[in-house]
Amino acid sequence: MNVLVINCGSSTIKYQLINTDDQQALAAGSVERIGMADAVLSHQPQGREKVRVTGEILDHIQAIEYTLAILLSPQYGVIRDTSEIDAVGHRVVHGGEKFSGSVILTDEVMAQIRECIELAPLHNPHNVRGIEACQRLMPNVPEVAVFDTAFHQTMPDYAYMYALPWKLYERHAIRRYGFHGTSHGWVAARTAELLGKPISSLKMVTCHLGNGCSIAAVDGGKSVDTSMGFTPLEGLVMGTRSGDIDPAIILHVIGKEDLNVHEATALLNKHSGMLGLSGVSGDMREIEAQVEAGDTKAKLALRVYCYRIRKYIAAYAGAMGGLDTIVFTAGVGENSSLVRRLSCEGLTFMGVELDDTLNGIRSKTGRVISTNTSKVKVVVMPTNEELAIALETARLVAPLRG
Ligand code: ADP
Repeated sequence: MNVLVINCGSSTIKYQLINTDDQQALAAGSVERIGMADAVLSHQPQGREKVRVTGEILDHIQAIEYTLAILLSPQYGVIRDTSEIDAVGHRVVHGGEKFSGSVILTDEVMAQIRECIELAPLHNPHNVRGIEACQRLMPNVPEVAVFDTAFHQTMPDYAYMYALPWKLYERHAIRRYGFHGTSHGWVAARTAELLGKPISSLKMVTCHLGNGCSIAAVDGGKSVDTSMGFTPLEGLVMGTRSGDIDPAIILHVIGKEDLNVHEATALLNKHSGMLGLSGVSGDMREIEAQVEAGDTKAKLALRVYCYRIRKYIAAYAGAMGGLDTIVFTAGVGENSSLVRRLSCEGLTFMGVELDDTLNGIRSKTGRVISTNTSKVKVVVMPTNEELAIALETARLVAPLRG
């Protein structure tokens, strides 16, 4: 089955056309700067040269129109007719408490997704726009929503409730939801395969370390706790997001710096994290380069980042009453041996023994990086959210095709 995977942001759309039979992407690309005169469409047909087209793209509908046009183009395309797209899979950030799994999009489901906009005003409206655009341009192609929050809906109430007045949960659905669920679920399942063990027998901590970072306690294949909360701001230190802070800091700083809600939101989401601490960058490659060059703030930022991961790993081992496997994934988790080493440092008391040689090997495949005698297996597992969305979409759509 050919599944078009769509991930819509405010001014960006990322896409991949994936053949779910051989799990290969026929093409991948993105449209950036939607709404601007100099929008950019980048398109990479498999095994051929990348193409970049610049021009005015007014909105998400036009962006998807151009995406379809290039997928069909005689020169750069990979299909001859839209009928070769069997289904569309959308990444939807927030599914609230309504969605604990992926769903086929119907009018009723769309209404429920719109109700979740309130919970994720920065993300869900764009996801909805992308879905509406595809419905208009491909009215006969079945579409599926895959939610970032769904995997974490198995958390017990004592893990997802905040100690706030109960009415905030009832009136405004304030609770922990967790994000990056597609990635945590994917790497947990692939790791169980790699270790040759049933996932039901494993207590895992999965560390998704990209620009956004989150960590999850996955017990028997089910998420039982995760570091992102009501929004993707809580938990680990991220590229530009603070992660955990004393909530009273923000009340204090709003007064001291005379900030409005918008400015305070930007402070925590865009100017904090590794960027704020180091003053250098939110990009881990640049942080590592500065650490190498002896920059003291970059060194401290890296320590804070890894110390937070280590604390969460130990906390989640406690939450699950044991630990068999630690998994590192996403840009930083897959590529930075330094971050992996510092995050596991001091955990030998729990049976975590990293093998420095294995940890140092660069590879794009899933692999064990702990010693043979390590009680806890440490694994690097590449994430592939697009393929996960494509396979979920194919699974749901297959019965419709008879
Ligand atoms: P996103 O969350 O946007 O999907 P990614 O998963 O691609 O992000 O992760 C981006 C992060 O990965 C950046 O901080 C980047 O510096 C980091 N990264 C990518 N390659 C390396 C590398 N070789 N060493 C260290 N960090 C890396």
